[in-house]
Formats: sequence, structure tokens, C-alpha cells
Amino acid sequence: MNNKKKDDLKIANILSSVQTIAIVGASKDWKRPSNFVMKYLQKNGYKIIPINPKEAGNYILGEICYENLSSVKTSIDMVDVFRKSNECLQIAKEAVKIKAKVFWTQIGVINKEAIKLVEKHNIISISNKCPKIEHSRIFGNLGSGGFYSGLISSKKQEVTKSKSKKRDNGFFVSKNLETLSVHAGTSPDPITGSRNFPIYQTTAFTFDDADHAASLYNLQEPGNIYARLSNPTTAALEQRIAALDDGIGACCVSSGHAAQLVALYPLLGPNKKIVASSKLYGGSITQFTKSFLNFGWEAELVDVSDLNQVEQALKCKKVRALFAESLANPEGNVSDITNLSKLAHHAGIPLIIDNTMATQAICKPGKYGADLIIYSTTKFLSGHGNAMGGCVVDIGSFDWMTGRDFNSLTTPDTSYHNISFYETFGNLAYINYCHACVLRDLGTTMSPFNAYLTLTGIETLKIRMQKHMFNASKVANFLKNHKKINSVSWAGFKESSFYELGKKYFDFGFGSVFTFSVKSGYEGAKKLVENCNLFSHLANVGDTKSLIIHPASTTHRQLSSEQRERAGVGDSILRISIGIEHHDDIILDLSEALKVI
Ligand SMILES: *Cc1c(COP(=O)(O)O)cnc(C)c1O
Repeated sequence: MNNKKKDDLKIANILSSVQTIAIVGASKDWKRPSNFVMKYLQKNGYKIIPINPKEAGNYILGEICYENLSSVKTSIDMVDVFRKSNECLQIAKEAVKIKAKVFWTQIGVINKEAIKLVEKHNIISISNKCPKIEHSRIFGNLGSGGFYSGLISSKKQEVTKSKSKKRDNGFFVSKNLETLSVHAGTSPDPITGSRNFPIYQTTAFTFDDADHAASLYNLQEPGNIYARLSNPTTAALEQRIAALDDGIGACCVSSGHAAQLVALYPLLGPNKKIVASSKLYGGSITQFTKSFLNFGWEAELVDVSDLNQVEQALKCKKVRALFAESLANPEGNVSDITNLSKLAHHAGIPLIIDNTMATQAICKPGKYGADLIIYSTTKFLSGHGNAMGGCVVDIGSFDWMTGRDFNSLTTPDTSYHNISFYETFGNLAYINYCHACVLRDLGTTMSPFNAYLTLTGIETLKIRMQKHMFNASKVANFLKNHKKINSVSWAGFKESSFYELGKKYFDFGFGSVFTFSVKSGYEGAKKLVENCNLFSHLANVGDTKSLIIHPASTTHRQLSSEQRERAGVGDSILRISIGIEHHDDIILDLSEALKVI
């Protein structure tokens, strides 16, 4: 079990067992985080006791406020501290005196001596976290979601804490991709018990009362308002994808291109810049170098296999992110993720990896230092060529307060009564911002039906990828030895310049999308496509079906012959995406078509 999952289980146990929580530093001001947290915990069935010497004797949220912990007459299970780190030791001493079971300090509140003291007295301690966020992350799978808890369950989850009986959510913890692919994010429906996760086909969600509506709009309480911002089916998918990457949260959007836009929006602004690999998927190059200019965002394309070139480019103070594909579409270039992440972090910016072609089944970029991972879920994740979608995953490794300025996340947001996302949500600031601001304002929302199809598709991710990779290796070897073929770009050949990097970063396989060139040039390549009967002639990849396209006469036909050559899609080049049919049939189709060219 990794530490993140162990922590989740510890927190789930704490929040399931405590009943009375004293909030030290409780504020009567509804705009302060302590007030948000009290209100949320009350609503979820906890008894709250506010502690604040300035308000002693007054009522906050219907509860009488005390001067300090010692003056409270009833027993207290948990102490939650909203004070400066240097005030914690004194509070810890009081917590020991009143025999609290849990000593919890909020985001940014860390005091090692206080932790040592309480733990010496067998008090469980949690620091630098918020119980509201943790509760909604672990128990709130119908909330606005998107936050991964490491816990899965086949039991119906209780939505709110019942006063009479102890919660048993029957949590199970797994580190295995196959198990998480089937379970993460989709416990049985808490109301109906439906085992398969429902499609919440709705545009809006009713409020309990005016106060509840206000809390949602104030971001005081997680929950659904309007489906442009969040939807429970999409939230389930977000949890699943985050789980597969071992990330802290995710935001699903309408397409892979939307994922790139949404991922960069919190980081960039006019006169800011990204440095990206020059070998990106063609559509990404156009998006970065043409459409993004309209936002005042610049993009500098570099050869990411030349680390000196990357280092030089990152020196420009406008740069806010480094962007590359783990396995590039379509030529199979493999990025040296570890070294790219070192350069990015040295420059004070995050590394974003497009992991569409590899997927988590063969590569987890977060393990090698990537901070944000993006996907076109249209491809292998949904996997059946039936749903457009994209996703941004936050690994939680990048601290937005350090490095270059990331103002959107760290300064007061005027559209939410001047809260700072970083102060309020800690390391969940980025993903919260993606939902609360980026989806709200850009509207690139995933449809719940597509989320449902993608959830189902992901269940078979590992076995599909194994079959894709097996077939790709067979087909690549067949093509390489064929007399009418010039070259094959598959990275799995020992002589490929990407073979060693692939072995380092990929668990198995080298992708099932690659290019090859025929000796008979433009006309021969075109004829080959037309004579395939099993391969579909279309502009997609990552389907269960085998796919083929001739870029020179389709996607890249606007370019001149020389331009196409430079883009790596010369006139004789074909791109294929190997499906999961029987490999003999795939090879037969290609060999018959090759006979006529
Ligand atoms: C397809 C693709 C995209 C764009 O995704 P859409 O879902 O088509 O918008 C981005 N990156 C890579 C590597 C892709 O293959």
C-alpha cells in the first residue's frame, strides 16, 4: 500500500469514528474557511464546538463558543486547529489535558513539536489537511468530485453520517491497475444500490434551500450546481482516471484538445509562454502555435530529446509549463520524462505529459516526475471509437506557491468573494480551479453519456492494451521484413533510437500506433489504403478496430511535399493504429493490399 492510500484509510477511520469536533480559531465570518468547515461538518452529522476567546459566550452557527478547550464541559473527540503553526504547541498541550482522540491541523498549519507531543500521548495526528475536503473526497462520491480517494468499495456508501450507527463503508485498498480500472470512483449508488454507475442525464441539480444554494456558490460546500461545472457520472470517471495515475484529482472535458486548453488555462495568461515538444501530435501543434496566439499565449517548439535546447528555452521568464508526449503520435518518439521533469522543476514550472498513446497501462508519468498528465480519452481510454473526451490529472507534486508566479491559483479570486484557491483548497487548488473557473467560463464540458462510455471502456484497459501491443509487435515485424516497405517507425525495434527510453519508461509494449513508408511513394501509399478491407480508412487512433490513414492525401494535404517531409509525414508514409482483432487477419489484410501496389 502506498502512503497516499494508507493516509486515506487512516482519515476514513478517523472521520467515521469521531462525533464531537472542537474548531480552534472558529470565525463567525461566513467568508472565512473555518466557518465553511464548521458548516460542512455540522451538515454531515458532527457535533461542532467553536473555540475562540474573542467570541466566547456568543453563538456561531447555533453553537455556543468557548474561550479555550479546557473550558468545554463535554468530551471532545477531535480538535481541529485554524491557528498559526507557532500557536499549535499550546493547543496540543490542552488537547492532551482534555484527552482528545484526534489532533488535526489545517492546510498550512504544521508544528512538529505539537505532533510529537500528542503522539506521545497516543493521540492520532493529522496535519496540513482540511477535514471538509478530506470528507468530501473520501465519502462524497456524488459531490462535485474529481478528487481521488485511494479507497474503493462494493458497498452502498452512506451519504451523511448517521447519529445512531457507526459507519461501515467496507473500504478496500488496491494498488493494482486492473482492480482500479473496474472499481475506482464507482461504488454502488447510495440511494438505489444500482451496481453499475448511473448516467446522470441532467443539466442542473436542485438546492436543499437558499442557504445550501449560497454555500455551493460560495464554494463553501462541495456539490453539484449546473452540469457545465460538474456532474456525478463525470466525477466518477474523474476519480477513476486519477486513480489509475495515482493522482490527487482530475477534470474531464469534451475532448483531448479541450484537455490541453483547460490544463494550461490556470497557468498561462497574456504574454506567458509554454515550451513544447516539436514532435507533438499535429493537431496539438496547430492548437498551440495558431489558436493559442489569440489568447496572447506563446508556444516555443523544441526538440525535447536535446536537453540543452530544453534548458535554454526554459530560461525565458515568461514560460509557465513544459509540455511533451510520453509516446508521440504517430512516430513513436519517447520522452525522457525524468530528465525533462528535473529541468522543468529547476526552472520553477510544472511538466505536463500527454499520455494518450501510452495510457496508464504501460506508463505512469507521475512516477517519473510529471506534475500534470493529460489524455485524449477519445483514444485508448474509452477505447472503442465511440466517445470523444479528454482529461487533466493533477499528480499533486507541484507546489503552486513556489517557483514562478501562478497568480490564478495563489491570489484572491474576485469571482469567488476573494478567496485564494491555494489557501482554501491546498494541493487540490488546481483541480478545483479547473472545475470552478475554467469549466464555468470556457464551457468545454464532457457529456455524462460520454463519461459513462469511457468508464465502461476503461474497465478493460489493461487487457486491451496487452492485445494491442502484442498485435503491434507482430505487424511491425511483418512490415519490416516486407520487400515493398522502406521503413517502420515502431519504437519496439532494438535498432530504434527510442528503444532504450521505451524500456525505461514503459511497463510492456511500445505502443500500437506507428508509421511506415512504402517504396512506391504517394500513389502506392494511396492505393494501399484503398485496398485494405479489414483496416478502416479514417482519422482516429486507439480503437479496438485496426485503422489506417495516408496523411499526405488527407490530414496533411494542405502542405507542400517539402513541408510534409519536415513534419515527418512524407508522401510515402502511412499511419496505422493496430486493433485487437486476430493478428493473422490484420497481417493478411495488409499483405493482400501490398500485393496490388
Ligand atoms: C487525438 C489526440 C489529441 C487530441 O484529442 P481529441 O480528443 O481528438 O481532441 C491530443 N493528443 C494526442 C496524442 C492525440 O492522439
